[in-house]
Order: sequence, then C-alpha cells, then structure tokens
Amino acid sequence: MTSKTKQFANYAENKTGQALSQLSNRDIYIQLLHFVKEAAEGMPKNSSKRKVYYISAEFLIGKLLSNNLINLGLYEAVKDDLAAAGKSISQVEDIELEPSLGNGGLGRLASCFVDSMSTLGINGEGVGLNYHCGLFKQVFRDNQQEAEPNYWIEDDSWLVPTDISYDIPFRDFTLKSRLDRIDILGYHKDKKNYLNLFDIDGLDYGLIKDGITFDKTEIKKNLTLFLYPDDSDKNGELLRIYQQYFMVSNAAQLLIDEALERGSNLHDLADYAYVQINDTHPSMVIPELIRLLTEKHGLDFAEAVDIVRHMVGYTNHTILAEALEKWPLDYLEEVVPHLVRIIKKLDELIRAEYDDEAVQIIDTSNRVHMAHMDIHFSTSVNGVAALHTEILKNSELKPFYDIYPEKFNNKTNGITFRRWLEFANQDLAAYIKELIGNDYLKDASQLEKLLAFADDRAVHDRLSKIKFDNKVALKRYLKENKGIDLDANSIIDTQVKRFHEYKRQQMNALYVIHKYLEIKKYHRLPKRKITVIFGGKAAPAYTIAQDIIHLILCLSELINNDPAVSPYLNVFLVENYNVTVAEKLIPATDISEQISLASKEASGTGNMKFMLNGALTLGTMDGANVEIAELAGEDNIYTFGKDSDTIIDLYAKNAYAAKDYYDHDAAIKEAVDFIVSPDILALGKKERLERLYHELINKDWFMTLIDLKDYIAKKEQMLADYENQALWNKKVLHNIAKAGFFSSDRTIEQYDKDIWHSL
Ligand SMILES: *Cc1c(COP(=O)(O)O)cnc(C)c1O
Repeated sequence: MTSKTKQFANYAENKTGQALSQLSNRDIYIQLLHFVKEAAEGMPKNSSKRKVYYISAEFLIGKLLSNNLINLGLYEAVKDDLAAAGKSISQVEDIELEPSLGNGGLGRLASCFVDSMSTLGINGEGVGLNYHCGLFKQVFRDNQQEAEPNYWIEDDSWLVPTDISYDIPFRDFTLKSRLDRIDILGYHKDKKNYLNLFDIDGLDYGLIKDGITFDKTEIKKNLTLFLYPDDSDKNGELLRIYQQYFMVSNAAQLLIDEALERGSNLHDLADYAYVQINDTHPSMVIPELIRLLTEKHGLDFAEAVDIVRHMVGYTNHTILAEALEKWPLDYLEEVVPHLVRIIKKLDELIRAEYDDEAVQIIDTSNRVHMAHMDIHFSTSVNGVAALHTEILKNSELKPFYDIYPEKFNNKTNGITFRRWLEFANQDLAAYIKELIGNDYLKDASQLEKLLAFADDRAVHDRLSKIKFDNKVALKRYLKENKGIDLDANSIIDTQVKRFHEYKRQQMNALYVIHKYLEIKKYHRLPKRKITVIFGGKAAPAYTIAQDIIHLILCLSELINNDPAVSPYLNVFLVENYNVTVAEKLIPATDISEQISLASKEASGTGNMKFMLNGALTLGTMDGANVEIAELAGEDNIYTFGKDSDTIIDLYAKNAYAAKDYYDHDAAIKEAVDFIVSPDILALGKKERLERLYHELINKDWFMTLIDLKDYIAKKEQMLADYENQALWNKKVLHNIAKAGFFSSDRTIEQYDKDIWHSL
C-alpha cells in the first residue's frame, strides 16, 4: 500500500462529512473532479523563452478524470480507495460527460499532442474554441442518423475560468471574448500547461430549433454554439469565418501579451513564440499577427511580415482538394475587411516574386487559398505520415516544394500511450510491465523488448485471455449503454472513424453482404462467428455518407434478426462514436479495418491505437499503414489493394470506371445489387438505397469496386489465420512490440527538434 492511499478518501470525507461508501457515484465524481483540480491548481507552468501555440479548430480530448489521475500517479490509489468503500472507479468514470470540442482524427491528434507537450516539459499550449454543443450527438431513428446538440458543460467541469478577455473586431461590431482553460498535466510531471478555450458571453441556446439547425446570422449569440456549423449556404460559410477569426485573433493577442510579459520587445517576437497551424482553419493568424504588430504596436509592414514568417508552421492533414479551404474574398470583406487589406498585400508580395498562378494566394476567381498563404509565410510545412508527405512534395503541393524544398518535412502522427494503453487497456499494460518493466512508459521504443517472447506459448495464451476479457468488458458496456448484445466469443472486426467515402465503409458493408449471402444463400458457414462493428458520424450535409450509414443499419437489422445467419455473423453500428466508445472498442478488437483508398488517408491514428492494443491491421498501403507494415513486418499485417501510385495515375488519366467491375464480376454485381434487393428495401428508404446503388455503379469516386475482390480475399485469409492462435498471437505480439514508434511523445520530440526549437 502506498502513502497515496486514503488521500482521496480523507479528502472526500472532509469535504462532505460522509464516508466514501455513503456517497453516490455522482457525489464521488464531483469530489474527484475537485480533488484533481486542486492538485493541478498549485502546479507551476512549464516555462521557456519560446512558447508554442498549437492552434486548432478542434480538440477531441475525451474524458479527463482517469487520464488526469494516471498522470498525477494517483489512479491506482484512488481505485483502491473506491474499491475499499465498495465503489467502482469505472462507474464513477461513467458520470463524466465527454467534452465535445472535436470531431475526429484531427482533434484527437491535437489532444494527444497537448498531452505529450506537457509530458515532455515543453512550454506549449493548445488554443481553440469552447463549443457548447460540439459537432452533434448522433442518434439513430428509422435506420438513419439524426443530429442533436451535444451539451457537455456542467456546473462542475474541468474548465477553469480566467479574467482574460480581448476585443475582437468584426466589420459591423466588436465582440468581447472570455478565456476558460483546462489544465493539461504531463505524465508524472510537476509542471503543467493549459488548453486555452475562447468563448463569448451571451450565447443563446434558444436559437437552436430542430435538431442542430439554428439562426446562423446571430453571431453575438451563436458564435461558440457548434463546431463546424453547416456551411452549405452563405450564412454558414460566413459563420465559419467569424469563428476562425475569433479563434486566431484571441490567440494572437494572447501570444503577444504573453511575449511582452516575458520580456519581448516585439521586434524579437519570433524568439518568444511559435504558432503551429493545425490544418487550414487557423490560417488567418498570419495576417492577424501582422495586423496587430503594425496597426496596434507600430512596427512597419515589412518587418512585421518578416517576424511572422519566422514564427509559424503549417501542418497539412489532407490531400482531398475539397477539404483545402478557399474563402471568397467578398465573404472575408463582409466579416473582416481589416484583414483583407493585409491579405491583399501578402498576395502582392507573392505576385511580385512568382508568376506561377498555381502558387498565388488569391486566385483568378477571387478566392483566398488559406494553405497557400500558410506555405509562403511559414518556416515549416509538414505532412503527417511518410507517404502523405511524399505525395505533398511530388504532386499535391509540388509547385510549392519546388520553391521551398527546405520547408517540407514529415512528422508521422502519434497517440498518447497513457490514454490508449495505460488507461484503455489496463490488463495489457499490467502484463507488459510484468514482462518488460516500466521503462516503456517514458521511452515507448522499449516495447521492442517484448520480441523476446515472440514464440512463447504462455505469453500467447495470456494475450488471448486479455483480449477475451476485454471483449467481455465491451459486451457489458455495449449492453448497458448502446442496447447492443455482443457475442464475446466471436471474432471482433472493427471499423470506427468518421464516415467518408474515401475511408470506404461501403466496401466493408459490401463484405458484410457477401458474407451474409454465403451463409444464407450458399450455406457456407464460417468456422467461427464474426462480429463486424462500425462506429462514426457522417457530416449532416454529406448525403452519400448518410446513405452508407443507412445501409449498414438496415443490414444490421436484417442480419442480427435472422436466426439462420445471426449465429455466424452479427453487424452493429455503435451510436455516437466518440473517445469513450473508442477506449472500450479498441482493446477488444481482433481485426482493425484501415481500408481507405490508397493516397487519400493522410495518416490515420486509429490504426495506431489498434496496433498498440493487439489488433491486426487489414489495410491498404495508405497513410501510416505503410509505416505499420514496415515496422511490424509484412508477415504481421494484412495489406491489399492498389497502391497509391496506381491510384494517383488512374485519377490523372480519369481511367477508372466502376461499371466495368460491376459488369464483369458476378460476385461484385451480386453484392452491389443486394443494396436494392427486396430484403433491404423492406427495411430502408428506397431513395437512399437507390442513390447509393447508383453512386457505386456510375461514379464511385473513391473506387470501392477496384479493391473489393482483393479485400474479401484478404479478410477470408485473416479469418482462417485466426484459427491458428499461436500464429495469430505471434503476429499480435509483433505489432505491440513495434508500436512504440507511434507514441505522440516521439512525434512531439520531432516537432520540437525540427520546427519549434522551444526546449
Ligand atoms: C482516433 C480517433 C479518431 C481517428 O480515427 P481514424 O481511424 O484515424 O480516422 C476518430 N475519432 C475518435 C473518437 C478517435 O479516438
């Protein structure tokens, strides 16, 4: 027993006058929240001359209680205190609402990064907005996704109010901001950083009408209601510009104030601050910093440009052209005319130097290319996986690479092992410690020591047992929270991520149809039951993604209720996928679906979480899957499909026709036709199913059918290999052992060494 035991029990008893055993789980949660907040309150902040500002439109931070307890080194003691009082820490964890400040991989990455910055003692903080209703809460009705506001801020929360406030000028009015912060504690560190979340007073929930629709014109009352408000109309686009400018003007003012406090004379501002632009949403920070330095602090324009260009780095997260933001100059003029003046001057500087239209900031249709501005006025442009960075250099951003080869660099994404192993898979973490000690927690490459056990049957058996126990835990969670009845004895095959055609959930759905027909029609029964689990949200304005969700929900209803099929195959789509769900699903998974169309997924981080938790990857050679394959070895990953060069070439030549695959392969035709079969039409909406069917045959922009056969064959091989548990677990062990590279501590060390130079 450590001296830490009873610390919390005594605290709670003092505060409430009651024994722990008498308190409700909610009371205990509130006491723990304050216990942790008080521990963090007195902690000094990391300091250094140069401070890093990681500006991001989203931070998908997940619940904070247990993560903070782990980082404080108090988790075990508190768990024991609770157990001694007849309470369970996981039931207390259930009380916390997950913050809805993010939407997917980009926001989760930002959260792993702030965790790693604190753990490495870097003076680096996140800056973003405090959305009160998040993206949306996903609910299923009539086999369709519906969106509801995702309220998460309670009276007792992790937010710490400050009296910091700035005036944010827009064309027609000025808005006052307020800053709330969340303490970010490093793993076993005695210094902390903040996550800075700017907000407004005067937010009005009453603006929200049906679902998540609301009056998008009432900026003073709606600015921080939602993350990524629907931008399919002009008011939506304007609102996004308002949000982005509000975010970066606050960040820039905070940065300048803090630099002045630390002794900067502003001429040397670049020695005091570095701004990492996470995707293009924060790009306006560049002209805003220039504006503040010139108009508020009196520097001349050329000097201000020079300063800013030495203190900014840009991270690219996508090669999907439609995801690279281009704001119409007119719209910017309506919201922030004072910034348009600066942007035009920056555009002139570039035009004077380069006559290639491809690298201009303002294009011939008067749209501002945010990424172009970032690349010109920064020290660093990075991609997020080796393959992704190569594609940026050689095709997507080639004209820029030709100008600035020295700016381009790769920073393969990572994940924090504190959350994704220590917390999410406590049995596996404990077993790893038993085998190789604690060192891997500070130096993740130490996981390689596990390779010594590659052929050890006893180790294989323990890995199997841990996986099974995690399935049982998942079963309980899904039953209690999602109305799903999981078979813990089945193979768990999981695809969880945002719904997008490039991620190809539709290909997995076609596999499910194939398997269903094998069982139902051809009576070829699998050796072992397979459970295919999906999870993820689709953007409300993204019709085809909604249609794919609809198909999966219809398949789920059909298959799980058919007594001839359900003993062999189950399909579930878990409602409202978020970090909390991921923490339960990933440790219980056998097969990790990473099946994006090669060249389209910048990196992925879900793939890394699964690898670390002993799932084997079924994936295309895309994003960080390529690095997973290199590290784990060809024998320990299941790859399939056309490679990225082939795909890029097909796009260039416009040479892919889905119809050819449909017409010439009876198995593909049978699976695709099933989407509009009477069985499915009886459960679903004709319009949605027919639209998806026609999309797949006539367009299929993300080439589902090109890889379908190969995918089905690889998955079958995987299911067969699973039957050889010694072989399977040897592969599992290799994956865990080689996952150390994907620690976000490694990623952040590289950012600091190559880009930030803050330590
Ligand atoms: C890791 C994570 C993601 C990113 O998953 P990808 O497979 O990399 O797209 C998205 N959402 C949540 C909740 C996550 O934890």
